[in-house]
Amino acid sequence: MRVVITGAAGFLGSHLAERFLADGYEVIGVDNFITGSRANAEYLEGLGNFRLIEHDVTLPLFLDEEVDGVLHFASPASPVDYLELPIQTLKVGSLGTHNALGLAKAKGARFLLASTSEVYGDPQVHPQPETYWGHVNPVGPRGVYDEAKRFAEAMTMAYHTYHGVDTRIVRIFNTYGPRMRPGDGRVVSNFIVQALRGDPITIYGDGQQTRSFCFVKDEAEGIFRLFHADRVQPVNIGNPNEFTIRELADIVLEETASSSSLDALPMPVDDPKVRQPDISVAKALLGWEPSVELREGIRKTLPYFREELERHDARARTI
Ligand code: NAD
Ligand code: UDP
Repeated sequence: MRVVITGAAGFLGSHLAERFLADGYEVIGVDNFITGSRANAEYLEGLGNFRLIEHDVTLPLFLDEEVDGVLHFASPASPVDYLELPIQTLKVGSLGTHNALGLAKAKGARFLLASTSEVYGDPQVHPQPETYWGHVNPVGPRGVYDEAKRFAEAMTMAYHTYHGVDTRIVRIFNTYGPRMRPGDGRVVSNFIVQALRGDPITIYGDGQQTRSFCFVKDEAEGIFRLFHADRVQPVNIGNPNEFTIRELADIVLEETASSSSLDALPMPVDDPKVRQPDISVAKALLGWEPSVELREGIRKTLPYFREELERHDARARTI
């Protein structure tokens, strides 16, 4: 069995590729490294049965091989990244999804779309079940990501309905763990790097906004199971344990024994006030629920960031 994973050199795509490789699949990664890392691709190549094609998926992709699955994970995902790359984000969510669906259709392959909790926007229903249609500002700064993913879901459903492609949609909630880029700007990577360096912890707003953080191995397992399950409608995959951003800062400070101070910065425009997945569908359909709690997940993540910062500092000393 062979799957194509777009965005395989990124954080989540690389863990998902590893999960498929562990099950005996051959994996072809497709990435243009816009936010991904060559080190992730090299690591996967070292596992065997993996090869990476450097390609921008907003352009059509043709492969000679038979393909059993296409999993579309290419897209900037950190708010800092997609605000810096707004047009690329819209293009990979629209044209990139179209091309990935086209590849799945041509190969008779199953397709899985990496969608997001951001399709719920700044939600007025809490926690968020899959049946909630969301509360998104299309013309605000986050619209470039949210609307691209909403379009991608609509395109996926259209390929299912009108072309008979066997499709899946996963709505991924905040995921963290090893292989996040230290500078990608998301809250877990920011707080860990700041705490390890003794820099101020940047809390946006009053820190009372909430998120529900899922350890990446749990997330990859849920997505792997959804790929093999029988459900076309979207499925939330995330950890339902909800924390304020201030609580997250306290956990990171405790686990790193850091004496960093807290720095209050302005709240970004349209930043969702709450977020928590309702995972009843995933539990019933996949027999899946996350097993790693936040504090334990932070502990599992710290060695990676320590190494990354040491490598970075060593490089800086040689220049
Ligand atoms: P990431 O930035 O680490 O990885 C994205 C990868 O996609 C990178 O390797 C990047 O180079 C690649 N890419 C982007 N545009 C491309 C293009 N045009 N052609 C080829 N490759 C391209 O982000 P991530 O956290 O690993 O997210 C992966 C996917 O999961 C994204 O689709 C994201 O929207 C979704 N998601 C992630 C989270 C999360 O918390 N990590 C939450 C919700 C949804
Ligand atoms: N956040 C923060 N400090 C940071 C980075 C993020 O307080 O240095 C907040 C951000 O405002 C948001 C939450 O943490 O409320 C999660 O942000 P992230 O960028 O990780 O992802 P989001 O869930 O907003 O897509």
